[in-house]
Amino acid sequence: MRRKQFKSESKKLMDMMINSIYTHKEIFLRELISNASDALDKLYFKSLTDNNVGIAAEDFEIRIELDKENRTLKIIDNGCGMTEDELDSNLGTIAKSGSFNFKQENEKTENVDIIGQFGVGFYSAFMVSDVVTVESRAYGSDEAFCWKSEGADGYTIEPCTKNDVGTVITLHIKENTEDERYDEFLDQYRISALVKKYSDYIRHPIKMEFTTKEPVETEEGKEPEYRDVTELRTLNSMVPLWKKSKTELKDEDYNNFYKEKFYDYNDPARVIHYKTEGQATYNALLYIPKKPPFDYYTKEFEKGLQLYSKGVLIMEKCPDLLPDYFSFVKGLVDSEDLSLNISREMLQHDGQLKLIAKTLEKKIKGELEKMLSGDREAYEEFFKAFGIQLKFGIYNDYGMHKDTLKDLLIFRSSAEKKFVTLKEYTDRCPEAQESIFYACGESDERIEMLPQTDAVKEKGYEILYLTENVDEFALKMLAEYAGKKFVNICDDSLNLDSDDEKKALETENEASKDMLAAMKESIGEKISAVRFTNKLKKHPVCITSEGGISLEMEKTLNSMPGASENRVKAQLVLEINASHPIAEKLKKLYREDKDTLAKYAKLLYGEACLIGGTAVDDPVEHSNLVCELMTK
Ligand code: ADP
Repeated sequence: MRRKQFKSESKKLMDMMINSIYTHKEIFLRELISNASDALDKLYFKSLTDNNVGIAAEDFEIRIELDKENRTLKIIDNGCGMTEDELDSNLGTIAKSGSFNFKQENEKTENVDIIGQFGVGFYSAFMVSDVVTVESRAYGSDEAFCWKSEGADGYTIEPCTKNDVGTVITLHIKENTEDERYDEFLDQYRISALVKKYSDYIRHPIKMEFTTKEPVETEEGKEPEYRDVTELRTLNSMVPLWKKSKTELKDEDYNNFYKEKFYDYNDPARVIHYKTEGQATYNALLYIPKKPPFDYYTKEFEKGLQLYSKGVLIMEKCPDLLPDYFSFVKGLVDSEDLSLNISREMLQHDGQLKLIAKTLEKKIKGELEKMLSGDREAYEEFFKAFGIQLKFGIYNDYGMHKDTLKDLLIFRSSAEKKFVTLKEYTDRCPEAQESIFYACGESDERIEMLPQTDAVKEKGYEILYLTENVDEFALKMLAEYAGKKFVNICDDSLNLDSDDEKKALETENEASKDMLAAMKESIGEKISAVRFTNKLKKHPVCITSEGGISLEMEKTLNSMPGASENRVKAQLVLEINASHPIAEKLKKLYREDKDTLAKYAKLLYGEACLIGGTAVDDPVEHSNLVCELMTK
């Protein structure tokens, strides 16, 4: 027999368990029962298509046996069992390594109570026991094996005898210490209360022999006598949490269930629990998390809800139940209508499932709307975490879902530097205002520095601040809201002038046509034209874009993978403030000193780039020109 070592991560977790000063050591029972229940589900599931299993549905059970004298607690199941290899790989390593990494990170930074927050699985047994043995016989095998460990030193696996398929876990309970009373885990009342507290909803019976004293009839006048009566009791009610009625459940019940089942460390932001009958009969328990899981914005993340059919888990993550834009939702659906042994491929085309998905989407949307109107602060927190996902939802699939999502968007704006919905914006803007104005930039501060911002604000218009790459793409996909078009204030189509002002500007541009062409010539291909404008107040110059692709979009599109061969170019125009003193100066130079005019053109272009939040193409040339000017 060879002693094997735990994998290093597991060893760390083991050490933590063994030396834990965690006060809720009792959760070990919940963990082991949950594993046993999973094992029963697996074999039950098999029995639906395999007649050889030979166990009737009602005979699947979990047993608990207590032995005070020998200080042992056994958890016995007649589930799928484990082969020798499975004992080695399942109990020698941690399955949920992703959440373990996350736990460690949190532990360092916040010193959180990770054991209670997450299920830590099988290893939690070591919080209360000094020896753990697992005897198991896998379904389909006639050999049984015994896994045994006394802690972090490692474990052994050797053959043993076991007549039935399933698993027996034997915990040798630690001796009491000065601070800890481990005896409680050998007490039938305590164990039965723990099962009720943590495992009541497990759908298989958890049975235990219960011994009570019964009075024996004695002759009158004699001391009363009692005898022990032992009966097998089922400790749990077997109703899954989601099948209970809302009134029976407290926030705490929902939250504990969520954290344990979906490996989150925070309470959820919202819980949606409902039951429908009619076209589709199902229970749904959905959660909107507060924070994205660590892998949410990576390719590794898989969306989906747990799918149960009549209380039996048939799929761990059913992606077809959630649209991508609500992929952050966690939870489960338990349907009466789905066949238990439906295959993954068939599920995708199942009309019933589609119907369920549709109603789920409505419920989720409804809950978000409720949050938006009823608890703005919570919604803003939610939006910071998942708003990007909603915006991608608008943009993706050629805008197919834009109407579903548009009223869930919020943007900060120039009005109060607070978040505003599109409806709020259009409700409070002057009726004659035809457009919804927005500006793009790295941050609110950057946007406020844009030369165009002042002019739009001065006219009394509110500007939405777009600081996320996807923002403008989403708005372009929406195109309009409540009949008002979205207009980037840096776009040349921005036109706040009256007809007279427009005329005057046209004349001005016409008169200086040659000068403007000469300036464009010296700046080169980077821009398509130079023009005078009325839209700038204090600033001398700005860059605007023509033809629908803004500078921000150019930046985003060109930073995408594969963009190098196919670079997008925004059509840029250098605009000069017609009422700024620089305008006169330029005209003078055009008459007297065309060389200097060429340099000024380059300089002004550089200035406009800097103000607009992009780099100068040629910083050396730019600074040389500035110095030349300074030394004149
Ligand atoms: P988790 O349950 O989250 O996967 P655990 O550490 O609790 O992590 O268990 C590891 C694995 O060991 C389980 O995934 C399961 O495959 C196996 N296992 C544990 N207990 C049993 C059991 N009673 N019967 C069959 N397999 C089990």
